[in-house]
Amino acid sequence: MTAALLDRATLAEIGALEATDDIEFGVRLLANTPTHESRDHDRLRQWARTADEFGASLAHVAPTARVVESGDGLAKGLLARYTSRPVPTVELFTDTLALAEELIDRLGWRHWYPAGSVREAAIAHEAVHEQLHHGPAKSALKQSLGHVVLRAGRHRLYGHVAGADEIAAHAYARTVCGLGRSPLLLTAALATVADPQQGSPHGREK
Ligand SMILES: [Zn+2]
Repeated sequence: MTAALLDRATLAEIGALEATDDIEFGVRLLANTPTHESRDHDRLRQWARTADEFGASLAHVAPTARVVESGDGLAKGLLARYTSRPVPTVELFTDTLALAEELIDRLGWRHWYPAGSVREAAIAHEAVHEQLHHGPAKSALKQSLGHVVLRAGRHRLYGHVAGADEIAAHAYARTVCGLGRSPLLLTAALATVADPQQGSPHGREK
């Protein structure tokens, strides 16, 4: 953490983020995902909205993965991650979580992200990845996105929309944790303040 965490330029950038609607963050996520670079904005927006609605309406499931914590998230550019082997595990990075909590306080965003909700949202988010990886929800999401890649008579083959599961996971976390805004806004704000120090929270690993 630095004294310059929120200088004037950073605050202006975050103000612009705050004025951006949550679906647009989903559009940006898709636009930055390989295979979508040349797709038009309207189509990405429709997919972002569909994936968001899908995630928000997913049935609540109790997370079953074990949770482990470590303190090197900022160096790795991570807040949380899910690994399935050797046992399903959610890894939480306490330094990034602490930075997120501090940022929420400094920005006056506590009404959107209640105390402790970032940790809870990270666990909920990773629980959805587990569902969308193995369960029937995976094909349900594909169908609702309606990205038809092959038609043969009355049969349709739906293609994978890269990044849609990520949007769904954020929407689920927002809903079950009662957040006022998408975790994507917080992620974008974190990237803005973490940038000068370490690179973005979703940047390259060192
Ligand atoms: Zn994710």
